[in-house]
Amino acid sequence: MEKRSSQTKVKVVVRLRPALSTNEKTCVSVVDNRVQILNHRNIEESLQYEFNTVFDEKTSQVEVFSTSVEPLLEKVLHGQNVSVFAYGPTGAGKTHTMLGVNSDPGIIPRVIQSLFKTIELKQKSANDLSNQAPQFKVTFSYMEIYNEKVRTVAATNLNKYSSRSHTILLLKIHRKEPSGKELRGKLYLIDLAGSEDNRRTGNKGIRLKESGAINKSLFVLGEVVDAINQNQPRIPYRNSKLTRLLQDSIGGGCHSVMITNIAPEEKFYYDTYCTLNFATKSKKI
Ligand code: ADP
Ligand code: MG
Repeated sequence: MEKRSSQTKVKVVVRLRPALSTNEKTCVSVVDNRVQILNHRNIEESLQYEFNTVFDEKTSQVEVFSTSVEPLLEKVLHGQNVSVFAYGPTGAGKTHTMLGVNSDPGIIPRVIQSLFKTIELKQKSANDLSNQAPQFKVTFSYMEIYNEKVRTVAATNLNKYSSRSHTILLLKIHRKEPSGKELRGKLYLIDLAGSEDNRRTGNKGIRLKESGAINKSLFVLGEVVDAINQNQPRIPYRNSKLTRLLQDSIGGGCHSVMITNIAPEEKFYYDTYCTLNFATKSKKI
């Protein structure tokens, strides 16, 4: 019987965003690597989840970047494929984590800055040693998956997308060594559609169809992550547009991180509960 090589596991981390106002009741707390959600209607139902990495509400953007993403950039520069995605309900901090704001940039601007700085340093140190430097070419593409269709949009629209679509930034890095050897790495940076169940929030008609399709991609992504992390022989990549796109950048020898975003307010109770269950399942074994 052929022995399968093992899959590189998808790292699942959790990030709790701070409360946005003091007027709202909160129900989530982080102690060490445990997330606790309190059901105020029934305290005995308080739930605890344990993860390898939990970023509490005080964690800075730079800390999230340097802990979860920066170590993977060297791999991309050496021809490996990497994917980073933010999962969670609308309002929990996915876009803040991936994109951030000018005064507090998130993963995407930090990745770009770090990659170009690293490339510059590699070339400078080669020049200092009078060696020939490797040549790098970086290309960007930006896509959205909406209703199971990929349609591409202009990069200037990056922060104007719907929470109903998966927004995907793909960086391709082509490296040519002085020897002529070529390496190609891909980095996917993905702000997933909101994971909330829109049937519950009363969406009907076209919105319901949208959420069905979005949920299909998220559902299949969950299955793919589980299958990879449990080293199952068959990974169901082909069951959704999103996972088909990611096929060569998640599982196999690729490094992936899923940042699970949660919100502290009580009104997010059900979403937080569902999101942590999804993430716990995804990190099992
Ligand atoms: P999502 O993309 O998941 O819908 P957002 O990233 O838009 O959520 O976050 C919702 C709101 O919370 C925004 O106003 C955002 O600026 C704020 N926010 C999210 N995460 C943080 C954080 N870590 N620190 C401060 N504000 C945050
Ligand atoms: Mg968003």
